[in-house]
Amino acid sequence: MNNGLPIKAKQYVQFVSALTAFLVIYFLTGSTEIRQISLYILILIGLWFGQWFNASVIVTGFVGIGLLMVSGLQDWHFPQWSLSVVLLGLMPVPYYFSRQNRMAQAIALQSSTRHNDRLKELTEYVEEYSHHRESLRQEIENMNQLYILGRDLVEHTDMTDVFEHIAKAFLKRSGVSGIAVLLWVNQGWSCVYCFPRDEKSVWTEFMKKKYDLSRERRFHILDGPLWLREKAVVFWPVRFEQSPLAAILLTTTPEVAPRYVEEGTIFVPQVALGLKRMQLFWEVQERSRTDGLTGLFLRRYFLERLSTELQRSARYASEFSLCMIDIDYFKQVNDSYGHLVGDRVLCILARIFVNCTPPGGLICRYGGEEFVVMIPGASRSEAVRVAQEIQRVLALKNLGNDLTELQVTVSIGISHFPGDGESSEVLIAAADKAMYWVKQNGRNGIHEFQRLT
Ligand code: GH3
Ligand code: MG
Ligand code: MG
Repeated sequence: MNNGLPIKAKQYVQFVSALTAFLVIYFLTGSTEIRQISLYILILIGLWFGQWFNASVIVTGFVGIGLLMVSGLQDWHFPQWSLSVVLLGLMPVPYYFSRQNRMAQAIALQSSTRHNDRLKELTEYVEEYSHHRESLRQEIENMNQLYILGRDLVEHTDMTDVFEHIAKAFLKRSGVSGIAVLLWVNQGWSCVYCFPRDEKSVWTEFMKKKYDLSRERRFHILDGPLWLREKAVVFWPVRFEQSPLAAILLTTTPEVAPRYVEEGTIFVPQVALGLKRMQLFWEVQERSRTDGLTGLFLRRYFLERLSTELQRSARYASEFSLCMIDIDYFKQVNDSYGHLVGDRVLCILARIFVNCTPPGGLICRYGGEEFVVMIPGASRSEAVRVAQEIQRVLALKNLGNDLTELQVTVSIGISHFPGDGESSEVLIAAADKAMYWVKQNGRNGIHEFQRLT
């Protein structure tokens, strides 16, 4: 606008100069023809400047008509008439064009407003879409995390590892400030994992009164514990088929709690499957390792552990001892009291062996009524002390109320690493030999392999 002004002023000066020049020429010349031609030029000047000043056409028109009237009033000829008509006819031309211009501008403005509106609409849509896309991305990220957790559940066999994993993933999520995992064991809740860690006992205490939650299948928000004021506790029941396995409790802000209730329904069935799988795995593993009757380790697993202990002792130049224990005249126990009593006696003796073995020892049911005890770090004399303790307890004749008259004795052979051999087979054979020595020398005794020779 401001830039246009000097240009327009320039045109204005040009127009006034052209008009003045025309008038000077007009009045200076005496020829009628030149005057008529100059009037046509005047029309052209008016039209030319009409593009900048509409009024220039009117001005030149009136000037032309005025000049025609002054010069030819007495004698009007056809060219003068026609010129007057042309001049008058030309006057509205610039107005017509400026109107056209205005209308075009109005249309352009209208369409630009429409386009602006559309642009605004599109911008809003793009913003909304990006927001939506962001929340979808977040959602996918969440799902991905849940998937990874699910996969981890399948890969892990250590429950604490898994819960730690779950806790880590959820504690990163918005609004989550705590997590507690409680297992349903022996008809009660027991907190096996929680964050913050010092809340373990309060959670167990809190859930003690919530026996009914073991039957609950709904994912919902619990009436929060008192110590978590202004927080919500999301309850995720972890169940497999009809039975409760565990409960996961998420401490969140009340705003996000409903979202986590929903998320739990997607995620927790995976946890349930993982937990069940782990439980079965442990059960199978336990069964393959331990003897069903006495609960002691089975020979195969014992041998694996013995070989590990051998390597460890060899590396650290430490010692250990083996006690091979065989019950004396056990066949007679069976014959006199029956197999059921025989089984009970085996269990009672197994308990005694466990109680008499120092912590860290491994006790195994090696065969029918044969047992092996491995005592890490034990010298021969320490192993002898363990064997003596076993015999002392057995001598008390305290196997059970209805077994008071039953006297059970054992023969114990002892071997020592590294003194008596450097492999499991040799060490076991040595302890076995020592034990047979006792059998052959009256039973109910203890013998060390080394002293045989
Ligand atoms: P010895 O003093 O020479 O060892 O005599 P023993 O009778 O203990 O030895 P023997 O090898 O003749 O008999 C072992 C008995 O242990 C035979 C078998 O019936 C019994 N036995 C082995 N396993 C079990 C078991 O799981 N339960 C019961 N009740 N008896 C078992
Ligand atoms: Mg035997
Ligand atoms: Mg025996």
